[in-house]
Amino acid sequence: MSNTVLITGCSSGVGEATAKLFAAKGFSVIATMRSPEANTSLDGIKNLIKVRLDVEDISSIQHAITEGIKIFGQINFVINNAGFGQYGIFEGMPMDKVRKNFDVNVFGVMNVIQQMTPIFRQQGGGVILNVSSCGGIVGLPLISIYASTKFALEGFIESISYELASQNIITKIYEPGGIISPFHQRAAEENTGNSDITSYDSFIENVNNAMGKMAIGAASVEQVAQDIFDATTDSTDKLRYCSPYGVEQLVRARREFSDENYEKFARTQLPRK
Ligand code: NAP
Repeated sequence: MSNTVLITGCSSGVGEATAKLFAAKGFSVIATMRSPEANTSLDGIKNLIKVRLDVEDISSIQHAITEGIKIFGQINFVINNAGFGQYGIFEGMPMDKVRKNFDVNVFGVMNVIQQMTPIFRQQGGGVILNVSSCGGIVGLPLISIYASTKFALEGFIESISYELASQNIITKIYEPGGIISPFHQRAAEENTGNSDITSYDSFIENVNNAMGKMAIGAASVEQVAQDIFDATTDSTDKLRYCSPYGVEQLVRARREFSDENYEKFARTQLPRK
């Protein structure tokens, strides 16, 4: 079996670091992104090609897969990494922005998996790792839509993991906590602004303070790329891999406490006023 990986969202952050790591480990890499011409940091890497892929555009997914197979002969691993968030209170968020977040983080993953499944099925197997978030384990204020997309992703992947296992296709979910990447700047820019609503102001300040403390434990993209590499290539059918950088206590409490006790604990960590 050849070792070829297709990764989405390689223009920056985790995707870019993961593409570099897989290439350094001797894999053939189909590094996909929406605007390959805008990324130069992956140029000149042996056995790595940059291909345009927008997870919302099915023909671009088909083209990237075809191109990858043409050059490397086979695809064995897919990493659904592309995704974005948007900070802000829900009350002021336009529904088209809400839908866009689902279009990329949830329907985009479904698009890629639906295009890859027949290929993996016909070649007798494959591995699909999906980048979720600790925001797919615990709900968090000011990032409600992003957390909803990752909760949806978790339910979807857990459900299809049974179907795909029957076809020898292994699905995995990777749940990182905080990561130092362009994600946060982009999420802040996506904030549609609630400047005309002032009654949340002190709450927003309190949340930002609480989240700021959690962000101290955030990981580098290189660390996260290593986690993704290890999970993708461990030759097991383990479903979930959690690296709760900065939110260790919250995630542990969610997993180990009763719902009632988790709520009590979460109220000590996240403000409600
Ligand atoms: P990032 O640097 O902003 O990278 C996000 C990538 O997704 C970019 O390459 C972006 O491409 C791509 N993307 C967005 N919309 C797309 C679309 N329609 N089609 C294809 N690609 C698209 O952020 P990151 O931190 O590396 O995020 C990678 C993954 O980690 C995401 O799934 C994110 O939810 C998850 N995650 C991040 C954090 C964090 O704290 N950073 C924590 C937990 C989980 P463009 O450049 O074209 O926009």
